[in-house]
Amino acid sequence: MAQRDSTYSTPMMYIEGEWVGAAGRDGEDVLDPASGAVLASVPHAGEADLERALNAAEQGFAQWRITAVEERARVLADAARLIRERAELIAEIATREQGKVLVEAMGETMAAAAMMEFHAGEAARIYGRVLPRPRGTRSMVLPQPVGTVAAFCAWNFPVLNVVRKLSPAIASGCSVILKPSEETPASATEIMRCLVDAGLPANVAQIVFGVPDKVSTYLLKSPITRKLSFTGSVPVGKHLLKLAADTVMRSTMELGGHGPVLVFDDCDLDETIKTLVGHKFRNAGQVCVAPTRFFVQDTIYERFAAGFAQHARALNLGDGALASTQMGPLANPRRPGAIESLVEDAVAQGAVLMAGGSRGEGSGFFYNPTVLKDVPNSARAMMEEPFGPLALIRPFSTMDDAVEQANRLPFGLAAYCFTESARRQNHLSEAIDAGMIAFNSIRMSWPDAPFGGMKESGFGSEDGPEGIAAHMVTKSIHIA
Ligand code: NAD
Repeated sequence: MAQRDSTYSTPMMYIEGEWVGAAGRDGEDVLDPASGAVLASVPHAGEADLERALNAAEQGFAQWRITAVEERARVLADAARLIRERAELIAEIATREQGKVLVEAMGETMAAAAMMEFHAGEAARIYGRVLPRPRGTRSMVLPQPVGTVAAFCAWNFPVLNVVRKLSPAIASGCSVILKPSEETPASATEIMRCLVDAGLPANVAQIVFGVPDKVSTYLLKSPITRKLSFTGSVPVGKHLLKLAADTVMRSTMELGGHGPVLVFDDCDLDETIKTLVGHKFRNAGQVCVAPTRFFVQDTIYERFAAGFAQHARALNLGDGALASTQMGPLANPRRPGAIESLVEDAVAQGAVLMAGGSRGEGSGFFYNPTVLKDVPNSARAMMEEPFGPLALIRPFSTMDDAVEQANRLPFGLAAYCFTESARRQNHLSEAIDAGMIAFNSIRMSWPDAPFGGMKESGFGSEDGPEGIAAHMVTKSIHIA
């Protein structure tokens, strides 16, 4: 498969105001998913590095919590401007280490800048409350930053995930130690560079890499850490919550999903198929809010499945840095095998393969856009989050039947409904167990709207004022 050379930068940690590279430390290779080639080595933090990061973060919090909100806002606004100025470089790096197509990486980078700008504004909108008691005690509700945040995020949005962890913590007056994914470290390094260049004081934010469980165990057992924020899989989220329980730590969990899509026969079918194919195979399906289980009204079921498969087959698979590519490789060598085994299991249980179902060519981590219809509920793919380019289609006859299927799993992150009926939209808004529901559209990530799930998909929204509130503790003050 054709490859293109593009920019990459050296992944670095940032501890106590110093850039820390691989020299003298353990590390691991960062791979280019489009070719399997080694791009760089990412340094691993040892215990001395983590201890240094914790002590720096403690000092950073003491200073930052009393820094004027105008200054917090200025730093974030200037860093957002730098992200925009450097967007081309950042997007190229993200594509190189994660695999997504360049236009998506560029869109992600611009969304990250907008997110940081929103948080700059929110820094100045942290309000308390006075409870008027005209003839007695005066009561006040006083929000304060929670303290040092230990944040961990996944590789699927190497730019936006990092900003979602750093910028609300900084806006709220917290300090933060972030461990981005070791598989996509250079994007995180570049975002940190924008904050440093915008004048963020040395100890407010730190970036470390390492053996994930060693880093999280070390940071979460420290009394300096007062909040855990995690984006990643449900099993790792449950594991981290158990560690956080030991110090009764405030937590935000942005975990996996298994997005149901309800398609009713009053939708614009051609438009719906086009929209959904684009969204399904965005980032090769490695999106927590990806649409995955497509429940289609029986009156349009066969037309939907055939149209969806036809569009999926036409997608051009390749290196994300090439302008002709519409879907890139999967992010790491684990994913193609994981998708392959889900597809084999579903087909063995009677699912009908409509498109794909095989790995792509070349040495990269490619898997073809895959569409299965008539997938039985017993198939593993109908229960486990595929996190890949796999669309699962099943029919329904009534709205109650569709809702029951949508709510069948322990996940509750994103759901999508395609129908022109306002009455149905009203009912489905209430009936579907999901933290986010989009009607006749796929967009659900906006800086000013809460982003997060219910059930095992997590709790404690990111974005919106809710994302700031998740970094604050509330005191009640009563003055006689
Ligand atoms: P994984 O659960 O092993 O890793 C996911 C992320 O969590 C990685 O970035 C990793 O560095 C981090 N991590 C893992 N163990 C950790 C620990 N003990 N402490 C701190 N951080 C830790 O999964 P994977 O194989 O990389 O990805 C596949 C699965 O991850 C998918 O099935 C999907 O459910 C999930 N995922 C979800 C999201 C999301 O946005 N919700 C993003 C990426 C991956």
